[in-house]
Amino acid sequence: MTNSTEATHFDVVIIGAGISGINAAHELITNHPGKSFVILDALSSFGGTWLTHTYPGVRSDTELYTLGYSYKPWKGAPYAGGADIHTYLGEVIEAFDVAKHIQYNQRVESLNWDTAGKQWTVGGINKETKEQFSLSADFIWSCHGYYRQEKGYTPTWPGMETFEGEIIHPQSWPENTNFKNKHVVVIGSGATAATLVPAIANNCGHVTVLQRSPAYFFQSPNKDDLADQLRSDGVDDVEVHAKVREKAILEMQGLTNFIAENAEISRNGMIQMVTSQLPEGFDVAKHFTPRYLPSEQRVARILDGDFFKVISSGQVSMVTDEISTFTPSGVITKDGTVIDADVVITATGFELSVLGDIAMRIDDAPIDVAERITHRGVMFSGIPNYAWSFGALRLSWTTRIEVISDYISRMLTFMDGQGTKVVTPTLRPQDQGMQIRPFGDPQFSPGYVQRARNSQPRSGDHEPWMMNIDYWDEREKLPKTGFDDGTLVFEK
Ligand SMILES: Cc1cc2nc3c(=O)[nH]c(=O)nc-3n(C[C@H](O)[C@H](O)[C@H](O)COP(=O)(O)OP(=O)(O)OC[C@H]3O[C@@H](n4cnc5c(N)ncnc54)[C@H](O)[C@@H]3O)c2cc1C
Repeated sequence: MTNSTEATHFDVVIIGAGISGINAAHELITNHPGKSFVILDALSSFGGTWLTHTYPGVRSDTELYTLGYSYKPWKGAPYAGGADIHTYLGEVIEAFDVAKHIQYNQRVESLNWDTAGKQWTVGGINKETKEQFSLSADFIWSCHGYYRQEKGYTPTWPGMETFEGEIIHPQSWPENTNFKNKHVVVIGSGATAATLVPAIANNCGHVTVLQRSPAYFFQSPNKDDLADQLRSDGVDDVEVHAKVREKAILEMQGLTNFIAENAEISRNGMIQMVTSQLPEGFDVAKHFTPRYLPSEQRVARILDGDFFKVISSGQVSMVTDEISTFTPSGVITKDGTVIDADVVITATGFELSVLGDIAMRIDDAPIDVAERITHRGVMFSGIPNYAWSFGALRLSWTTRIEVISDYISRMLTFMDGQGTKVVTPTLRPQDQGMQIRPFGDPQFSPGYVQRARNSQPRSGDHEPWMMNIDYWDEREKLPKTGFDDGTLVFEK
């Protein structure tokens, strides 16, 4: 086994050292100790999302008993700040001796499968030295996440170039900000805006949240009664974590199912919850009554009512309208509202990265991934020895990551047992002509998914050519799923 930075061939190359890549490494270390592997990450440290996002108030909106791993107990309050999540990931790296496998500042730019040689060539650039690198690998385990870390999504609005203040995207938060006495406009209405605003409101002149349309919010305290009870009974961390994790998955799945099956009741319940947090007469219909159903996007979580408190105190005002134009001193909306701004924060979301923005080729011929069909939301038709760790969208991302890493790991064990070197998802005669659909969960359509829909891989209309979006069903079935239904073609 070779792990040296000098090595140029690995059994497995993992792309990305975020939650998914660290988990893939844990899987290989635990169940495939004989395999050599490297994790390549374009960033200068681990954590992905939890490294790049440093804006005030950045935190999880699912709890850490499930966003964390099943094999590493979470010991804090259920919802955690970005820095604490990063620290937790560092502890996992240390506990499982992952660090020696990671190479930072290595952006993978190309993957080329060599059919005769039965291996991938991995090409890229060292972002520090600007030198090109090239490795080879038997298997690619891509853990690139789903959006670009380098830059968030900022729409262009008329007059933006005339604005004389500062424009900041939360994904590229500057180190030293001082908003004292400044008028800050936060554009956007999702989880980012709702966590950022309470964190800065006390240190600004005034904050205006400017949203094109309202979003749903769910509010809860940042505590878990079961965890508190178990801890006060002296139960150890491993057992507390396991019990609370299972309960949290059940609760989250229950809530997700309830929302899907009872759209109107959930909608009204959430709006009612918000109304009860805001002063009498607040225009909830305008600012907190979304036009979509709560099942269509992740519902943002407010902890201990902090977002509503800063609105109620008058430190934060809401404007719900589209931007007509920027001016040198702020923004004018379509209905003519003039908002003065020294600073504009564009909490306008992500740019989706399609398979890590990596140019993929087979025998030097470019692959259009939009023509490929997913195999179980893990692999893709006609692409050999390549798997993607894509997590859960409605539960914590990590819940699905662990289920599919077990599947990938079993597949590698199966291949070793058979003495096969190549696995390629391949459409059978009965799969030809099936209906082709967008990748992922058809009911889940936030802006960043819609913007990149045409460049993503596709789904078919039956198993295994689609991703199972039902976590419980997948968790039950995937561990028992074999590799012999003819959709995976193995070669020596
Ligand atoms: C502010 C914020 C809060 C969130 N809160 C939650 C939450 O509470 N619960 C939840 O489930 N999800 C949440 N998410 C979603 C979150 O992204 C996932 O939960 C999870 O962190 C994704 O982990 P990942 O490792 O798959 O991807 P990422 O964290 O995106 O990491 C991917 C890594 O791959 C690297 N990479 C990508 N392409 C390449 C390449 N070509 N070459 C080399 N390296 C590459 C990147 O540099 C990065 O380090 C949140 C997201 C954000 C932005």
